[in-house]
Order: sequence, then structure tokens, then C-alpha cells
Amino acid sequence: MLTDYHVHLRPDEPGETAGSAFTAANAERYREVAAERGIEELGVAEHVYRFSAALDVWQHPLWQEFATDDLDAYCEFVREETDLKLGIEADFVPGREDRMRGLLEARDWDYVVGSIHFVAEGALDYDVYDVWNSGRSADHVWRTYFTWLGELAATGMYDVLAHPDLVKHWGKERPWPEKDLRFYYDLAMEQIADSGIAVEVSTAGLRKPVGEIYPSSGFLEMVIDAGNPIALSSDAHTTDQLGFRYDEAVKFLSDHGVDELAVFDRRERRLEPIG
Ligand SMILES: [Zn+2]
Ligand SMILES: [Zn+2]
Repeated sequence: MLTDYHVHLRPDEPGETAGSAFTAANAERYREVAAERGIEELGVAEHVYRFSAALDVWQHPLWQEFATDDLDAYCEFVREETDLKLGIEADFVPGREDRMRGLLEARDWDYVVGSIHFVAEGALDYDVYDVWNSGRSADHVWRTYFTWLGELAATGMYDVLAHPDLVKHWGKERPWPEKDLRFYYDLAMEQIADSGIAVEVSTAGLRKPVGEIYPSSGFLEMVIDAGNPIALSSDAHTTDQLGFRYDEAVKFLSDHGVDELAVFDRRERRLEPIG
């Protein structure tokens, strides 16, 4: 089985409306392209900050700009008008865990994908609020990112840890730490291991300046040693990106001895052989 769970029907551009993305015909288009690419397990995980309910959790200016959609209408659309799994990509915002937990627990997901896109107010993968304009060192940003990643896992609020080393998004276009990267991974690893969270292997990084899969080989080795299950996704925002460069991801997984993927149904997890 192949999965693609971290998928967005709604493009990131602010002008796009939910009305054009959340239609049965659009969902069917995604389903057809995924089927052509051998992906049977398909689900959507829209960004929580596209929904007005997210403003009860955090009021970052980017969220204020984007939070226009109705969260319950999205859930109802996916359940009633599509055969896709229902997920959400929810940020971990330190200090706001209880508010995010309330938002998540009030709805009936197949899975919740947990992400960190910001360190403090600075974005890791969006240059408008670029974290690297803050004058903080690479060591500080990477330390904070991986410390929070462990905290994300420890909340127990998330089923899948998304794009685990997103902090590398810009590659060498931004400051890069001098230490061996395993130093930073170690800051998260104990909590990741204890939580048992599924760790996402995402081909999105291949489309980004860094040009490599999230996470790195070193990070993946550590989570495999810890015994965490692996989830596979493309983070597609268009049908072209469904199963994006999965041949490379499947080889990457088999090179690391991974032969099963996490599959979710109403927040119950099982493992299925890759293929
Ligand atoms: Zn993300
Ligand atoms: Zn995403």
C-alpha cells in the first residue's frame, strides 16, 4: 500500500476560495490522479490556519490574513461529499496547547498532522515573516525548533509528525549550524520515542530550496531505532504533486529497512506493507 495523507485541496495563495477547492469534483480529481500513481490511501489535511476557529488559538498576522474558512463546513464536506480520509494539519504553538487541543478534540478526524512552521513569530518556510530576518543564530533557531518538536510529540495531540526537519527548508540560502545535526535531532528524540507518534517522510522537501526529503537520513535512522512508525506523504497542494517523486521516497525507506507504513482510520493506527 502507498499513502498520501498530508494533502491540501486548497492552494496556499490567499486569493483562492474554499468554494472552488472544496467540491466533490475537485476531490474526485485528486482521487483519480492518486489512483493512477498507485496511491490507495488518500486523505486531506488542510492547514488549521485557513479556518477562522484557529484565531481562538493564535493571532499571528499570517493567520489573521488567511483564516477565512469554516472548520465544521470543511469536515462535513470531506465526510459527506468525498471518500477521502479526514485530516488536518495543525500547528504546535507553545503555550497554546490547551486551545489547540480543544479545537482538535471537538471534531472527528481520521488523523491529525502536527507541524511547526514558526519559531516565535518567524516563519521557517515563508519569506514574508522569515525567521532568518530576526538576527538569531542558526544554533538558536535549530535548537528551539527541535526542542519544540519533542514538545509537540509529547502533547499526544497529534498522530503524525509532519516534515520533521522543516527548519532546513532554505538549505544553504540561510544560516546553517556548524554542529553535527544529530545534536539537534537528539533534543527531540526522547519525547518522539516515548510518544510513539508516527513520523512523516515527506517528498515536499524535494520541491523546496533544500532539495531533499524531510527528514534527513540521520533523523530517520534515529526514529527507526526508537521504534516509531513511518507515514508517507507528498504535502501536495495540487494534483501534480500527489505522490511527488515517491519512487525516491520508497527507495529511501527501503534503504533504511522500512517496509510498513502507518494507516489511519478515526485515529486508530495500523501498519500496512509498502507496495
Ligand atoms: Zn506544513
Ligand atoms: Zn502541508
